[in-house]
Amino acid sequence: MSCKGLTSIIIPDSVTSIGSHAFYNCTGLKSAVIPKSVKYIWSNTFYDCTELTIYGCSGTAAKSFAYREKIPFKYICEYPQNAAGHDYVKGICTVCGADDPKYSRN
Ligand SMILES: [Zn+2]
Repeated sequence: MSCKGLTSIIIPDSVTSIGSHAFYNCTGLKSAVIPKSVKYIWSNTFYDCTELTIYGCSGTAAKSFAYREKIPFKYICEYPQNAAGHDYVKGICTVCGADDPKYSRN
């Protein structure tokens, strides 16, 4: 909460929920990668994170949360790089068209 120096976070696969106000008022936060393992995100988790874009996969709690809270959302490739032909060129997956958040920020 209120960590002004925080610019990006990658939530690990071991996390299943993100608690209320966890990243409240982190105004420098620009990207949050949220994996499929996260099944629940409390509504005020990213309150006042005005620069935030959430990165995740379709059909996840991250996607529905972003929609509900009107936070910009971008899809990321669900597959490890080079798995089943999925590879990034200039930050875009050549198979599914999803963004690689490591390259899409500038
Ligand atoms: Zn892909």
